Amino acid sequence: MCIITGASKGFGRALAHLASLYLKPGSVLLLVARSRSLLQELKEELQSLKECQGLTVHCAEADLSISEGVKETVDIVRQHTENDINHVLLVNNTASLGDISPFESFTDLDHVNAYLSLNVSSTLALTAGVLQAFPPRLGLRWSVVNCSSTLALQALPSWVLYCSAKAAREMMFRVLAAENPGVKVLSYSPGPMETKMQETIRRLTGVQYHLYPCRESATKLMKVLLDNDFVSGTHLDFFQLSSQYDVKMHANYMSNATKRYCT
Ligand code: NAP
Repeated sequence: MCIITGASKGFGRALAHLASLYLKPGSVLLLVARSRSLLQELKEELQSLKECQGLTVHCAEADLSISEGVKETVDIVRQHTENDINHVLLVNNTASLGDISPFESFTDLDHVNAYLSLNVSSTLALTAGVLQAFPPRLGLRWSVVNCSSTLALQALPSWVLYCSAKAAREMMFRVLAAENPGVKVLSYSPGPMETKMQETIRRLTGVQYHLYPCRESATKLMKVLLDNDFVSGTHLDFFQLSSQYDVKMHANYMSNATKRYCT
């Protein structure tokens, strides 16, 4: 069973395409996001592929920023607990950018909580719900991916919401790895990609980064998952899995971003 949140667009959609090629017949792929039409379109795309015959694709049209959305998603997962599932893969990909504003502008608790609700709390509640539905046991492989960011580890001025949420998620999944050796946990930083989120960053900040296609990053993640030789709880970055050239690009990317926001 493979569950991908934020599957309607960007990285999640590219990953759904790729993952569907590796799922065995009889597998269930659950695509989660708010946009029903985009999910339905993706489902049809996948079902038309020769490689995906025998794969059951479900769409959960759910707003993960609210309890009902998390509950609806877990309820769909629960419908498959009787299936003969030998591997659960949960990809916590959904995230939002939030306000990019100076620290002192965040005086409104409700505003901050709304951001953290989607970007931190729902990730915990959903992962916990799926763990309850499929308790780790011998013979059941369990993998969780946390879509992270360089900004989980590096402070960027005016990005307090995004940085804090990504840092909290990182620790959340390190705790899960420490607590449950039966669950293999990976925090994956997918690198700068051509997505709606990057379009928004460009519009709000005017900063134009060198962006990579989502598929390139998704391919790297799939390889790490298939090789399965990472330490549970670890953080891996797209650039760590890339050539020397890309490592240099990354150094420039972070130093330009920091300079830009420090001025
Ligand atoms: P994106 O293009 O903004 O897509 C976000 C996805 O999350 C969409 O499918 C969206 O679908 C879903 N989503 C947003 N709010 C939701 C909600 N309330 N409930 C349910 N689903 C919701 O993002 P992306 O750029 O692909 O980023 C994917 C992941 O990579 C994120 O965790 C991001 O932080 C991380 N990341 C991205 C970059 C980058 O350069 N893009 C860099 C580093 C890390 P709906 O709108 O249909 O709900």
